[in-house]
Amino acid sequence: MTATGPLTATGPLTATGHPLQRAGAWAAAVMAGRSHPDDVTTADVERVAQVMVQDVLTAATAVKDTDRYDWWKVLNALYPNSKATRSSRPRDRALLQAEIEALFVPDTDQTAGPCAFCSRPASVLWAKSNLPLFDSSSVVNMLPLQMRGWPVCYGCRIAMWALPYGAWVSAGSATVLSCESEAAIAQFARRNVQRARRITQAGFTGLPAGARPEYVTLVALRDAAPGLCATTLWTFKNDNQEPWLRVTQTRRAVPVFLARVDANAALRRGWHLLARALTRYDKAGKVTAHGVQEAARLLFEAEDGRSQSLLLRVHELLKDTDRPLPAGGREGLARLALAYAEEVLGMTSDVTAVATLIAQWIARGTSPRGRFAEYRSAALSDYKLGMLLMQAYSRLLLDGQAPALAGPEQWQALIQRRPRAWEQRMLLFAQVSVLLQQQGVAISEQPANEEEQRRLEALENQPILDDAEFDYEMGPA
Ligand SMILES: [Zn+2]
Repeated sequence: MTATGPLTATGPLTATGHPLQRAGAWAAAVMAGRSHPDDVTTADVERVAQVMVQDVLTAATAVKDTDRYDWWKVLNALYPNSKATRSSRPRDRALLQAEIEALFVPDTDQTAGPCAFCSRPASVLWAKSNLPLFDSSSVVNMLPLQMRGWPVCYGCRIAMWALPYGAWVSAGSATVLSCESEAAIAQFARRNVQRARRITQAGFTGLPAGARPEYVTLVALRDAAPGLCATTLWTFKNDNQEPWLRVTQTRRAVPVFLARVDANAALRRGWHLLARALTRYDKAGKVTAHGVQEAARLLFEAEDGRSQSLLLRVHELLKDTDRPLPAGGREGLARLALAYAEEVLGMTSDVTAVATLIAQWIARGTSPRGRFAEYRSAALSDYKLGMLLMQAYSRLLLDGQAPALAGPEQWQALIQRRPRAWEQRMLLFAQVSVLLQQQGVAISEQPANEEEQRRLEALENQPILDDAEFDYEMGPA
């Protein structure tokens, strides 16, 4: 993750290509009230450093388990062996102050060499205790042998400690955003600086649940970049024993997908239904997972492949016949799945002919519900779906339905092992569900009641991303 940025700015701060330094530089700019890191002056960074020092001192000398101690937990997740966090630190504010201030002294000469981030001359070498994820097994920033530390210039030292303000932090991790849109990065930093101010004052318990980093990112994309824009979220803990880094990304077309969903009532209906289904409660009825936040997370894909699939979540909703879906709900979900496949995955899909064949076969059965259950259990398997299609096709032929039917050549793509065939089978299932509903074939237990219907209609008039999620902006800043 080492990167050297071009030395173009005349001020003390440059946002380089290193994701953590970059996030910190933007945080420092926000804290200084500037619209870009390049605009930050030396007087600005001095003020930012003073604020940071005071916050560090308050956190490092706070009584354990008080609200003020929460910022120490944040610092400890980023800089576990630093002067601010080590267990042997003085608990006296005055004694600690000089040690913390010493971190942010201006460069006096060039003896340390060019800054590891921005190449400016630096007089200070920093070891890993002040630099998250340096010299840990999870990243590549390993120190060459015989070097005592990395040269880090004044501006970058402030950036690397402004990082927790610009990151989305929890008591044990931090998440930073990189993306092609500076406007999105700036908004992500602004929201997090506001949130960090609340945490330094009132702790995590003073913070309403609010938006998670994925949601903050999507709103920033919505506001900043209507076109193509990829993002990466880096979530990490700089633990002494087991530092970790988790990387998730959105595909470039996600902003286009969001704009399309937001502009269409049926797609919004699908999105809100999905979000509501993703809400989880504990036994006492308290929300443990907020659906809108969980839906936002579905647009992020983990680098290690261990992320949830939006198409699969939609599929699970559609196949759950015990859960009544309001009128138009199936169509909204099916169209959402198709829009996602087209915009985000870049798929083309036309399964109408095959969907019509299956829907006919189900509708003409003596027990449509039984046939639907049969299809449901075969729907995602290439082999089982092939068998079912052959059976349905033969049955309808014998019933004299031949002319309008999709023949085997039209369903080959769905039952072969080829890229995206699984996703195509999901889209087929979605379309079959919609056709059955349109034809009035009962496949679920019961229709949704009127109150449920009204609730959904109220929801679908709302935008899919709601700024009210940022409730941590309320209260004292
Ligand atoms: Zn630098």
